[in-house]
Amino acid sequence: MSRAMATRAWLRVVDVANQPAETRVEVADRETSKADARAALCLANGVPPDDIDPATGLNVSRDAYQQARGSWVRFLSGHRLSDYVVRDCREAGRRWRELRPEWVAELPWPRPAACDTCDTPGAEWDATDPLHLPGTSQCPWCRRVDIEDDKRAKRRDDV
Ligand SMILES: [Zn+2]
Repeated sequence: MSRAMATRAWLRVVDVANQPAETRVEVADRETSKADARAALCLANGVPPDDIDPATGLNVSRDAYQQARGSWVRFLSGHRLSDYVVRDCREAGRRWRELRPEWVAELPWPRPAACDTCDTPGAEWDATDPLHLPGTSQCPWCRRVDIEDDKRAKRRDDV
């Protein structure tokens, strides 16, 4: 496809995204137009029609998956994980699992390190806590609770 066509398609995406929408109907209408404009941009950039999600107009090709996954992997390793980051990463992963489960199964979506028990993002674990063990799946707090539970259970058994 021509570069001019891709530029026009991109300008259309920007134009539609900037259209005012106040009522729910206007918002829904704008979202539909955005999806169409994105699909046109994908086509102008040579994305095969089968790799365009009709609901969003987004490129859901294998390359797009690998790029999205790669950028999340880089982001997660370089930033402090806020609840928003964890939420956005999981949401993106959920959409990919829905649209392209076979690729997610083959090359898993990155999972922001969070406690398996209480879901606290790994970056928020108290690094000064002696029970903080980086690379594990449980925060020091939940680990301590488990240890206390084990001790209580052992005391019960000893009696
Ligand atoms: Zn925890």
